Amino acid sequence: MDAMTATQWFPFSDSLLAGSLPLLAAVLAALLLWALLRYRRLEHRLQGLSREMGSASRSLRNADRDLRTLFDQSAIAVVLLDSRTNAALYANETALAAFGVRSEEQLTAEVLQKPDAWADAPYGLMDFEEYLHRTVRSGLQKFEWRLEPQGRRPVWLDSSLSMISYKGAQALMFTGVNITARKHAEVADRFRHQAMTSMASDKGLHVALDHLANMAESRLPGARCGVMVHDVEAGCLRWVGGQSLPESLRERLDGLPVAFGAASSGTAVFIRGRVVSRDVRADDRWDRYREDAALAGVRACWSEPVLGSGGEMLGTFDVYHDEPWTPGDDDIDALTDPIALASLAIERHRAKGQLEKMVLAEQMVRRISTDLLTLAPEETDEGILRTCRGLGEFYRADRVFLCQFEDVSQQLKISHEWAAVGVSPLQDSTTRKFPLLPQAVATLFEGAPSVVLAADGEMPPALEFLSGLLSLQAKQSLLLAMVYRGDRMSGLLGIQMTATANPWTPQRINTSELIANLFGSALARNELLHSLTYQAVHDQLTGLYNRHKLESFMDQEVARCTRYGSTFSLVIFDLDHFKSINDRFGHNEGDAVLAGVSALMKEGIRESEIAGRWGGEEFLIILPETTLDCALPVADRLRSSIESHRFSIPERVTISVGVAAFHSGDTPHEIIQRADAALYSAKESGRNCVKAAF
Ligand code: GH3
Ligand code: MG
Ligand code: MG
Repeated sequence: MDAMTATQWFPFSDSLLAGSLPLLAAVLAALLLWALLRYRRLEHRLQGLSREMGSASRSLRNADRDLRTLFDQSAIAVVLLDSRTNAALYANETALAAFGVRSEEQLTAEVLQKPDAWADAPYGLMDFEEYLHRTVRSGLQKFEWRLEPQGRRPVWLDSSLSMISYKGAQALMFTGVNITARKHAEVADRFRHQAMTSMASDKGLHVALDHLANMAESRLPGARCGVMVHDVEAGCLRWVGGQSLPESLRERLDGLPVAFGAASSGTAVFIRGRVVSRDVRADDRWDRYREDAALAGVRACWSEPVLGSGGEMLGTFDVYHDEPWTPGDDDIDALTDPIALASLAIERHRAKGQLEKMVLAEQMVRRISTDLLTLAPEETDEGILRTCRGLGEFYRADRVFLCQFEDVSQQLKISHEWAAVGVSPLQDSTTRKFPLLPQAVATLFEGAPSVVLAADGEMPPALEFLSGLLSLQAKQSLLLAMVYRGDRMSGLLGIQMTATANPWTPQRINTSELIANLFGSALARNELLHSLTYQAVHDQLTGLYNRHKLESFMDQEVARCTRYGSTFSLVIFDLDHFKSINDRFGHNEGDAVLAGVSALMKEGIRESEIAGRWGGEEFLIILPETTLDCALPVADRLRSSIESHRFSIPERVTISVGVAAFHSGDTPHEIIQRADAALYSAKESGRNCVKAAF
């Protein structure tokens, strides 16, 4: 069975088997050899494969390193981010520098996952996360990214985000090109534009100068800037532009005097040149401001004068640093534009201010002229006083006064004065008149319409009267403008001011001279009106009331006596043979006689009595509250005074007189008729006598 099985299994006989054994062995050996050879070949292949794999993985490693080397040396910031955690897997040197960190871990912890490390709008962490999500959803994203690494100036990156496969997993690749310099230029341009726009739109000087300080800051890394404007009148500098320094220091420096040792800015204006305080702690000029500077974190200050187109000092452009610092050529270049624009802005502002002042002054002058030149004569004094006050308040003066030459006494009298609160008026002084000939004043003025006297200057001899009356104290000055009436010097307008610098700008002098002219015109007009009124009621030759005025007096007297039951008398007289005087001595001598008679008439009457020329060589006197009996002696005294007077002609002059008294119910005409009749009767009776009408 076993054999059977074996035979079945091995279908050869034993003998056959025995005979074929060596063959079998040989076959087996051959097989073995083949297998061995095959194994060796496989092993060889395997070794080759494993070598290939090793070199492949080596080259893969090298490729990664090469890429990193490439990235590391790139000027482009490259960051690989884990798309799930936003953690930085890799960041090149440029990226680390841009973000202000030293390692990927720090980048992750201090920037990417820390909201307050992100700049404010327009870019924030939320925006960046939005970009990440969008990249994951829809591929490449491009944007400009502004970030503010802690404690450092902002950085702008022109950025892109894309998905890549990194170490077998999905990762986000961030690349960014630093465009900070371009952005600074853009920002500077924007500030320049804003400054120009605000200058054009009259937003105020401080707005334009704020923009210019910002512009300078965007060009000077790490700097804080300010612009101080020269207040010429006050002799100091005002902080007008720039908000980066703490308010405490800005307030401390506001009003800085123009002087050596007044920090950097005051000194710069004083010496009219650049002042660099490399370290304010060690700079004498900062002695008085050192503590405030320290509190504000200011260590260095560079003050550059801002000059106007005509070379005048407009102010300073100031650059502050928190470390000791001096400007280099680039910094000086960077400040050229802001300074030029600041100069423009300040000049423009000044011109505008000047224009406004001119408009205001013109309005004031117009108001004053209409006021002064439309006043009734009796309101002129009030009008001049009002003008003195208006002018004084407008200029913030101490005192405004008008003094006038008095023709008769040849003296100068202060006629009108306004004094500011706390200033004692000149008119209170007991000496109000000063012997001073207009000619002496004319010499002093030397043909100019005005002079300015300063406190430290010597009082010219012609005006020494003022030194006793009006002593100018320090910082005080006095403008005196000549007041003309027609072409005659008639007085002086005086304006006394207190100011640090000279307050007498050409424009103020002009306005003051103009007002002095207006005063002259008002006074001349007043004089003219007076003389017109005078002429309307007076006789030119004799200066007595004329017939028109006498008639109106008579109407008044008749009305008064009718009402109160009182009386008045009328004296009328006519020169005897006057025609013959004219004929023999000439009309001029006749006139002289008429004037002489008038003078005697004026001398012979009381103040309450009214004397007038009735016409030709006829005269009339109204004696109020006088009966006929009382009037007759008056008339006769006059007659006798004329008779005994020696006129210029070699002949006596006599008059015939008629006197009448008011009767109840009389009209003016009736009483004159009666007096006339009495005069006629006097002529009839041989002349040189007085006749009464009953
Ligand atoms: P009598 O009155 O005594 O009768 O004689 P008479 O010579 O004065 O006569 P009458 O009154 O008629 O003459 C007035 C003269 O006075 C005539 C005129 O020429 C002259 N007369 C009138 N007004 C003026 C004047 O303003 N100046 C001068 N010089 N003469 C005048
Ligand atoms: Mg007559
Ligand atoms: Mg006569």
